[in-house]
Amino acid sequence: MFRKDTQHVYRVDAFLKLPWLEHGFGTRLSQNWPPEPLVFLRQIHSDRCVVVDGATGCLGEGDALITDTPGRFLSVRTADCIPILLADERRRVVAAVHAGWRGTVQEIASKTAAEMAARFGSRMEDLIAAIGPGICGKCYTVGPEVASRLRPWFPERDDLDGPTTVDLAEANRRQLIAAGIPPTRIFTGAPCTKCVPEEFHSFRRTRDHTGRMISGIAIAG
Ligand SMILES: [Zn+2]
Repeated sequence: MFRKDTQHVYRVDAFLKLPWLEHGFGTRLSQNWPPEPLVFLRQIHSDRCVVVDGATGCLGEGDALITDTPGRFLSVRTADCIPILLADERRRVVAAVHAGWRGTVQEIASKTAAEMAARFGSRMEDLIAAIGPGICGKCYTVGPEVASRLRPWFPERDDLDGPTTVDLAEANRRQLIAAGIPPTRIFTGAPCTKCVPEEFHSFRRTRDHTGRMISGIAIAG
């Protein structure tokens, strides 16, 4: 369940229940946001995950950040792409992921979960995932060159060889389930960035004059 607070930041109940965790999905109206110190990447629509130790600021190129170090706000910037936050409730490891269609077809979200397991011993059943505000499955029109590449995650569809619409959040949800995260621990239903102009920047809506929202997660320091 996503709810917007007085700071105009969307929060997820399952994360709010964890006292050691800070998180949020920013809007264009967010105040006193994001928390510092910030960690971020030059986002390149890749499947590259960066493990953060003590550093802050820009840590180079990539599209996912992972840490078990407290006091580092791992952030991603999005306009229509999908921000995804992950937390390991048992091992206290967190991750922030930027997934557009290119990141989605490269399975960046499930690769990030796998990296949490490899580096920190996370078990998939201990992870919580929140798939934040991005362009919705009704608004996201794509050509066959994009649609066809999402076919592995939509085997029930026979219209992916022509222009159509696709639901990137749902593709990521299915990838995370395939990786072993229990469906009941994956939270969706965030608002659409294109449908709700008063709250969100949308690249699809405004093209060249688009700002970005910041979303992120931290272990309280
Ligand atoms: Zn929409």
